[in-house]
Amino acid sequence: MSRFFTDRFRDLEPYVPGEQPRDRKYLKLNTNESPFPPSLQAQRRVAEAAKELQLYSDPEGTALRKKLAERFDLSPEEIILCNGSDEILNFSFAAFCDENTPALFPDITYGFYPVFARVNRLPYREIPLREDFSLHVDDYIGVKGTVFLANPNAPTGLVLGLDEIRRLLESDRDRVVVADEAYVDFGNESALPLIRSYDNLLVVRTYSKSRSMAGARLGFAVGDPALIRDLNTLRYSTNPYNVDSMTLAAGLGALEDDAYNMANCAVIVENREYLYRELKKLGFSGPRSAANFVFVKHPKLGGKVLYLALRQRGILVRHFDKERIRDYNRITVGTREQMDALLKALREILEEV
Ligand code: PMP
Repeated sequence: MSRFFTDRFRDLEPYVPGEQPRDRKYLKLNTNESPFPPSLQAQRRVAEAAKELQLYSDPEGTALRKKLAERFDLSPEEIILCNGSDEILNFSFAAFCDENTPALFPDITYGFYPVFARVNRLPYREIPLREDFSLHVDDYIGVKGTVFLANPNAPTGLVLGLDEIRRLLESDRDRVVVADEAYVDFGNESALPLIRSYDNLLVVRTYSKSRSMAGARLGFAVGDPALIRDLNTLRYSTNPYNVDSMTLAAGLGALEDDAYNMANCAVIVENREYLYRELKKLGFSGPRSAANFVFVKHPKLGGKVLYLALRQRGILVRHFDKERIRDYNRITVGTREQMDALLKALREILEEV
């Protein structure tokens, strides 16, 4: 830390993203990326857009918002585009929480939430998940604050049903509920249709997982136009050109080819079920994930030990050195070949213990 760093951020502990090492070729099952390349149409659109990089990107993302509106039966005023869904989440903390309105989220969830609260100097409260990592809406009812729910949750993969989301929204129409649906395309039902009934719901989505575009950094949020205007006030006060023109073009191309993306999601779901079955045979257990990852532990292996043993074999998974989940590893679901390579390594490791 330099002697110039402001006291405000002296104690700020930044978010630690999953490792992206470049020292050797790893089988990367640690950051929930897609094993499939972006659609050809997305790639073509990027190449076209690259020819006009001398110009600023469209700060309104007009063409892409129109396309998203068609795809999800929305109006463009209900959509905001951002540089990854992380950026929208950050804006949402800043826009909808304050000293009297803390952020509320589970104790086990996306690790960026507490960091967003702290960097915006906002109070927050972590509400413990139940013993089996399930979330009970009752734990939020009557508690004042803006609710942030990853659904499916990360790293557990567990889902909260739409009826429960509705009950949460109904319980206090004067607070915002942010549904972070980063993993919704792997088998969960989206809360998107609820935005017309609830002006206190913001649904956050990303292209990073189901549309194979983690490297492009493209997210969007959907909600009542008034909520979207609030987020735009912050966006225009920070970086109106937050989404570059190649990414806007890729986002458009990906939707033109969306059958490709959705077919890939179906393969991931199939491979997830295969992985579950095989892991179970090896003695692993964990919550039933509806996402593109599984969250598992083994009675004979500590979470960290397994993480290190896999790493040594060139396989990266995500271990969180955190109370309640230290025994687990989060493993991204990839291609069938990748899953077989993982299973082979796990069998070898288990034979050694
Ligand atoms: N929400 C959740 C629950 C996530 O796991 C992630 C991925 N790390 C994000 C949001 C952010 O995704 P992105 O910024 O790539 O859109």
